[in-house]
Amino acid sequence: MAAPRLVIDLDKIEHNARTLVESLATRGISVTGVTKATLGSPEIARSLLRSGVSGLGDSRIENIEAMRHAGVDAPMTLIRSPMLSQVERVVQHADVSFNTDADVIAALSAAAQAARRSHSIVLMVELGDLREGILPADLSDLVGWTLSLPNLDLAGIGTNLACQSGVAPDSGNMDELSGLARSIESTHGVSLDVVSGGNSANLRWASSGCDTGRINDLRLGESILLGTDPLDASPIDGLHHDAIVLVAEVIESASKPSQPRGEVGRTAFGPVPTPVDRGDIIRTILAVGRQDVDPDGLAPPQGISVLGASSDHLVVDSGGHRLEAGSEITFGLDYGALVRSMTSPHVERLMIGGGRDAAGTRVFPGP
Ligand SMILES: *Cc1c(COP(=O)(O)O)cnc(C)c1O
Repeated sequence: MAAPRLVIDLDKIEHNARTLVESLATRGISVTGVTKATLGSPEIARSLLRSGVSGLGDSRIENIEAMRHAGVDAPMTLIRSPMLSQVERVVQHADVSFNTDADVIAALSAAAQAARRSHSIVLMVELGDLREGILPADLSDLVGWTLSLPNLDLAGIGTNLACQSGVAPDSGNMDELSGLARSIESTHGVSLDVVSGGNSANLRWASSGCDTGRINDLRLGESILLGTDPLDASPIDGLHHDAIVLVAEVIESASKPSQPRGEVGRTAFGPVPTPVDRGDIIRTILAVGRQDVDPDGLAPPQGISVLGASSDHLVVDSGGHRLEAGSEITFGLDYGALVRSMTSPHVERLMIGGGRDAAGTRVFPGP
């Protein structure tokens, strides 16, 4: 079977998404399933939709277009502020986009008019993490600007935390978002359908039992795909943590020294620490490298440890066992490793579950 390959268990992804959808429903919060780490995979998108997510979100219009072309039928939100150079594509293919810039919003209005469509806007507010977002003091003016433009609907407001500076969602910043929603509604005489509180890092806040206020949407990617909480990479109870794994193939396995010989400089990827001398070890080499995955985000099976990686080789200590060329090792992934693998053209994808057998073959005609 082709390697390296991601093995993607659609049933486990669906289980994770359904579990989160059901638990957040009890708090009055719906889930936007985020597909950006999957390159807009239509199979994964359909698994999310089967689980009951209210819509799909992706940061790249190319991924949204790929899902549309594959016939995925769902409300789709572009969750990154559109590039001016892409506004026509955005109004054509996305129902909603997240916005922070007055010029971009004006261009979306013009593009929507030209296409005789209407486009919905969620304004993103900066609440401490210092990635995208309008400062709270500037929000009301941008709401007024958005409402003044033809062919645009103001769907709501949102925020994003824990991505740039690691600021955790808590009742302080979430209450601030709810307060902003209320004040926009009373100042401008509108009602906001969407108050989107954040991403997988919001789950701890959402399950803490505190008042969720006006927040009625979370955008979830990592927690659905990997079952982990981005705040500390901890596994979330009740979710699968191996819905997506990476399988790589052994191309060499031999007993060699644990320490390099000769004068040590940098490698192509920067300085590397000199390992402690443990005598000879079995060094096993896999045909996978930094072009395919972030080696720091790999979780090897018990008894195996990652020693290092270059563009195309991953060297592991296989715990005293010589592995034959052609044998395979399965690794767990963190989010960074997942994104790299999903976007590498060298990594195959094998979908299982969702009506397929263990070899990934469809066992009944699906949607
Ligand atoms: C990536 C992203 C998400 C999803 O984040 P996860 O941590 O994967 O759940 C949500 N919102 C925005 C704006 C994003 O860019």
